Amino acid sequence: MLRWAEVHLDRLLYNYRQVEKLSGPKKLIAVVKANAYGHGSVAVARFLQEQTAVSAFAVATYAEGVQLREAGIQRPIIVMSSTLEEELGRAREFRLMPVVYDFWELERAKELEVPFHVKLDTGMGRLGFLPSQWQELLCSLRGAKLAGVMTHFPSADEDPEFTAGQAKLFGEFVKALKGAFPKLWVHCDNSAALPLGLNGLFTHSRVGLALYGSKPFGGYPASLKQVMEVKARIISVKELPPGHSVSYGRTYTTSGKERVGVVSFGYADGLPRSLSGRGSFIVNGRRCPIRGRVCMDMTVISLEGVVAGKGGVATVTGLELPFEELARLAGTIPYELMCRISPRVERVYRGLQSLRT
Ligand SMILES: *Cc1c(COP(=O)(O)O)cnc(C)c1O
Repeated sequence: MLRWAEVHLDRLLYNYRQVEKLSGPKKLIAVVKANAYGHGSVAVARFLQEQTAVSAFAVATYAEGVQLREAGIQRPIIVMSSTLEEELGRAREFRLMPVVYDFWELERAKELEVPFHVKLDTGMGRLGFLPSQWQELLCSLRGAKLAGVMTHFPSADEDPEFTAGQAKLFGEFVKALKGAFPKLWVHCDNSAALPLGLNGLFTHSRVGLALYGSKPFGGYPASLKQVMEVKARIISVKELPPGHSVSYGRTYTTSGKERVGVVSFGYADGLPRSLSGRGSFIVNGRRCPIRGRVCMDMTVISLEGVVAGKGGVATVTGLELPFEELARLAGTIPYELMCRISPRVERVYRGLQSLRT
């Protein structure tokens, strides 16, 4: 293989247990949208279904939900966005639970007689009923198959005060509702909100990032292990003479003789081009700086002082070079880097053996 992503399921389980502790009495909804943040939603959901008491899976679209059902996932599946006419029909056939966020959807969900969740906008400014609509919403929900109610926190990592305000506002709606729906699922926490220990009304947490082993902010109170290790082969090694430029735009020129390696991993594989001349890969335990611009299929690194030849393996990201670090360098977040590891990078599942022994 030229390039691959090892998905360590033993680490996924380890993170799951850590998240369970943080979540306390609240049960877990595993967020597996966007192909489980690039880890492979079918493999991740199957594994969690077999190994844990995870209460549900959350995806973004109906297509993602259908894929899980067709792969034999039995637990409840919540579809968090994109509920259009042509999509809602699939809710019934595939037992997918819509997240309803406007009155049109509410009427459709009632007609279809499918259980659904309702989303309130308490400050995200994206999907959800605004507080000015809550009175009407309460009336419209009478007799409906309401299974859950949720809101979303835009800045649980940076603004605990604002987040607590959202939880309080949300709590008022839930109190007005709860008598009529005693089994209601109430869920707001994402990974970043878990340590805040908010509102005792919540029954579930919706967790993505932390399961995959990245911390939503520095000092996050859980030890997590990055689940994905991305690796690629060195396809050429050579010694460049002094004054030789490297890659497009000639942004790097050797000052002396320099041993370089060409790694078969580029921006088409998900490496941000903004890491040109900034990032590094790991080869044989050593950091090897990226030289010049990242190309579509290849990246040149310095192999000075590193024992490695053609066919050797470079680590693009993993325990020693986490997504958080790459994201900081690239001016983005680990979420984006994880889900941009492209389909061309084969997923290889590891760690099952260690669970059996
Ligand atoms: C993606 C998503 C989550 C999970 O967030 P993490 O930060 O990955 O834990 C929770 N809720 C909603 C509505 C989401 O879209």
